[in-house]
Amino acid sequence: MNPILSALIRIVLSTLGLAVSFLPRPFELWLGPRLGRLYLVLDPRRRKIAYDNIRRCLPELKEAGWSRLLNENYRHYGILALEILHMLSPLPGHYRRYAQKVSRFEGLENWKRAHDKGKGVLFVSAHLANWELMAAAGALRGIPITMVTRHLKPEWLHKKMEAVRLSVNIRCAYPPRTMPLVLKGLRAGESIGFVLDQYAPPPMGIPVPFFGVKVDTLAAVGSLAQRTGAAIIPARQKRDASGLVHGIVEPELDLGQARSHPAQATEILARKVEDWIRANPSQWLWVHRRFKNVVWPLVSSALSLLLPLLSPAAAASFKGESCASCHAHIRDAAGSKEPKPAEFFGEYEAAIIGGGLSGLSAAYSLKDKKVVVLEKDDEPGGKTRRENFSRWSYASGAVYTSEPEGPILKMFSELGIYPLKFKSPVHIYWENGRLLEEWISEKGFSEVASDDAQRAQLKGLWARLKQIDAEGKLTIPIQESDPQALQEYDSISFWDYLLKNYGRFAAQIGDYYCRDIFGTGAKDYSAFFGLMYMASEIPDSYSWPGGLGEIAQALAKNLGGRIKTGAMVERVIASQDHVRVIFRRGDKRYEIKAQTAILAVPSFITRRITTGLSEKKQKALAAVRYSAYANVAMQFKKPVFEKAFVLWTPKLSFADITFPGGERLEGPPSKQVGQVAQASMPMGSGDGRRWLQSRSDEEIRKLVLADVEKVLPGAAAQIEDLNIIRWGHAMPIMGPGYLSKIQEELRRPEGRLFFAGVDTQGPAIEGAMFSGFQAAEQARRFLSQWKK
Ligand SMILES: Cc1cc2nc3c(=O)[nH]c(=O)nc-3n(C[C@H](O)[C@H](O)[C@H](O)COP(=O)(O)OP(=O)(O)OC[C@H]3O[C@@H](n4cnc5c(N)ncnc54)[C@H](O)[C@@H]3O)c2cc1C
Repeated sequence: MNPILSALIRIVLSTLGLAVSFLPRPFELWLGPRLGRLYLVLDPRRRKIAYDNIRRCLPELKEAGWSRLLNENYRHYGILALEILHMLSPLPGHYRRYAQKVSRFEGLENWKRAHDKGKGVLFVSAHLANWELMAAAGALRGIPITMVTRHLKPEWLHKKMEAVRLSVNIRCAYPPRTMPLVLKGLRAGESIGFVLDQYAPPPMGIPVPFFGVKVDTLAAVGSLAQRTGAAIIPARQKRDASGLVHGIVEPELDLGQARSHPAQATEILARKVEDWIRANPSQWLWVHRRFKNVVWPLVSSALSLLLPLLSPAAAASFKGESCASCHAHIRDAAGSKEPKPAEFFGEYEAAIIGGGLSGLSAAYSLKDKKVVVLEKDDEPGGKTRRENFSRWSYASGAVYTSEPEGPILKMFSELGIYPLKFKSPVHIYWENGRLLEEWISEKGFSEVASDDAQRAQLKGLWARLKQIDAEGKLTIPIQESDPQALQEYDSISFWDYLLKNYGRFAAQIGDYYCRDIFGTGAKDYSAFFGLMYMASEIPDSYSWPGGLGEIAQALAKNLGGRIKTGAMVERVIASQDHVRVIFRRGDKRYEIKAQTAILAVPSFITRRITTGLSEKKQKALAAVRYSAYANVAMQFKKPVFEKAFVLWTPKLSFADITFPGGERLEGPPSKQVGQVAQASMPMGSGDGRRWLQSRSDEEIRKLVLADVEKVLPGAAAQIEDLNIIRWGHAMPIMGPGYLSKIQEELRRPEGRLFFAGVDTQGPAIEGAMFSGFQAAEQARRFLSQWKK
């Protein structure tokens, strides 16, 4: 948030917090409903959400009942808002006194009985009446409670809420450390509070019935109860006619057989919450987007007519980087004790962690050694993995590359593969119905610009890109580049570079390019990477029908049994004499003893699984941020676009659509009928990643279909299959300073450990393969010296 706006909000909220501190409660209960009525009038967007939720969940009330309930519900929001403002009061101890005054706690004996069993308590609550007051009332009666909640923005608000909760003895657990804190609390016999009525997408949530439809609901409580034996206690709130907020703790919930089935437990809990809401509907948060992506029985939008065309499985299955198992075994287990027990798996000269292109290339270079690749997924390939529709294969990630050369060309030749060159035009640009042929060209740049001033900016940029292309100066490997130039281009963002040298329009074009290619804007990338990659679009582009998965498939065939799939590495422990690698395969744990290990996984994984790294290395690994992408793959019944390989589409939900089918490539014409395409949705980082994780396939699909129709009218009706592949950590963000301050350190070997992966090179398959060759070479040198 803009710091000035944040400061202004802080002043306003603190002032209001101070003001409400002096309000007599009867006046507050008079004022609140009036403020709520005002909110009802002033915010039509929220009002519609609340009204639609009420109408769909409680159809039996009919129109008059819906309106009446909406009005009562908004009166409740007014009181709730004033109550919450007390939490922002700057007066020391105010909130504690206030909570004691306006809340009552019932059922302490129920908690005590469950607590005395010694396995911890899981409170399940909902956004009824005032949940903060309920927690405060409990904590003030001596319940040691940790609330599972979100990290608020801006930071000052987060800190303020944390402090005020602590003032009433409530602790909080936030992502990404939620699970370790929750488990620690339960182990100590404490009580953990969950509110279970919010939308929780996969992988944390599962769809369970709620008001007659299936809604994604947090599944953690059921799993935690099963895992730890903690008691589940429903706890609800209601505000009585006099305004007192009652926190009511019910007896421990007996889940019966559902205790060993987390999904069934979640269903029971969701039913409980629904019963509470039905009993007291005016005090629930109907303005919540609780029913995200639910297709209610009545759908009327034009797009919904396309729903039956798509396979039902497409909407239900999750594809891409699924965080659940990584979170459980790596993120939340980081720093915990060494996982035990592990069965001995074998001795190797080199253990390679990660079977993406970097790991596979490293293994290929070390084929003459006793080498093993451990890959957590069922297939190797990482972000180049190829997947299949019924009639076409498609790329789940990477799609095209430049002309192979050097060690990459050598490996391709030995593997017997060679990519096909795209016919011109390769890059068609679409904007509001206008198509520009080959926009990354001198002519294309002059047409993208809408006046002479813009044209002049792009002319300058084009001249620079051409020069880089001709000189080949800013190319991988960077060690061969001019260090002075490196310094110059590394210290500045691509956006600032373009703005300074050419002007705002050139910066906007560079920004769009970066979003498409790197998943995040030109301000996030250094001028070095922006220029180098943009210049790399000038020479020919290459791929295979079905994308770059061909390389991983050929490597996998070549490496055969050296690759162990379904093997998630949990720990890499290096000592003077050897490296121990502990991995999980199915329910079992194994241990490898190796002379060297190559970490060919993204930095955020390396950092968490490797013990004993130097502080410098850990710092560099922790400094790498990632952009996110959704890749929406579509299989069309008949070809819908045959003019170019990439259709660039600024200002839509996706940044481009690529068509890696056989038709647009030189070489033998494809025998396949129809066409496959991928819409690429860059998400940036942070909020973008959260967006990607919180949207259902259904919601993303609707967005994409609407835009596909804009670009290629009639194409949506030709879709016979569609898959959404989510890459939460698609590419490392190589911002200013990355090259000089981070990358060199990422690559530096430590003892028997060697480091590969695109983070150590450049965010493309060449970078991945090159990093594998380089790490393999270092390991080979170590092995030969060590043997002597
Ligand atoms: C949507 C998208 C589009 C792209 N388009 C292009 C393109 O057109 N051209 C291009 O050149 N590049 C493209 N890229 C970038 C390119 O695909 C990647 O940079 C490159 O493939 C990364 O290779 P890698 O081996 O470094 O990492 P990854 O491919 O991420 O491989 C790492 C492997 O390690 C495994 N792993 C992770 N943790 C563990 C663990 N604990 N134990 C065991 N295994 C583990 C993972 O499952 C994965 O297989 C694209 C990327 C994305 C996401």
